[in-house]
Amino acid sequence: MDSEQKLTQAQYKEIAYQKRMKKRAQQEAEREKERQRQLEEDEHFMHEAILQAKKAGHLLEVPIGCVIVKDGVVIGRGYNRRNTDKSTLSHAEIRAIRKAAKAVGDWRLDGCTLYVTLEPCPMCAGAIEQARIDRVVYGAPSDKSGCAGTLLNVVDNPKLMHRSEVVGGVLLSECEGLLKSYFQRLREGRSERKQ
Ligand SMILES: [Zn+2]
Repeated sequence: MDSEQKLTQAQYKEIAYQKRMKKRAQQEAEREKERQRQLEEDEHFMHEAILQAKKAGHLLEVPIGCVIVKDGVVIGRGYNRRNTDKSTLSHAEIRAIRKAAKAVGDWRLDGCTLYVTLEPCPMCAGAIEQARIDRVVYGAPSDKSGCAGTLLNVVDNPKLMHRSEVVGGVLLSECEGLLKSYFQRLREGRSERKQ
């Protein structure tokens, strides 16, 4: 092999390398764009869940709200009505799952994303797993009953039949703020009554 050929081969390698790098950078840019789009969509629907949580707050219930989305459309909404309905089952997620199932005419909710302002409890995480929901997006984590990874992971557990993708901390400060101000008001109410 003479030196001219060697040079050509080296140049060829360099060009191939540059092409690979360019392709890799393009792919990374596309992935980043998709991540950004997903985040914007998640925040948009978390706002919808927050609106539901505020409805619970108006009833003096713990402000937790939920929406279920399929193909970019909300198909089920729910908010916590545990005291109003005098029912353990009246959590935001359970109410939204019931409505979504009615909307699609099936108990299977595959292809759906569930947005909830507070990490699901064991009951709701179980219902999410049973309903085969694809994605779970929550706002604030719950160190008292969180079953999407904080205390247990029921929604994405390899031992169970269905696993959902989990995203936590979307609009975290707004979701936490709702709960904090609710409990703050509750404490103020109690201390006023004591006086
Ligand atoms: Zn629950």
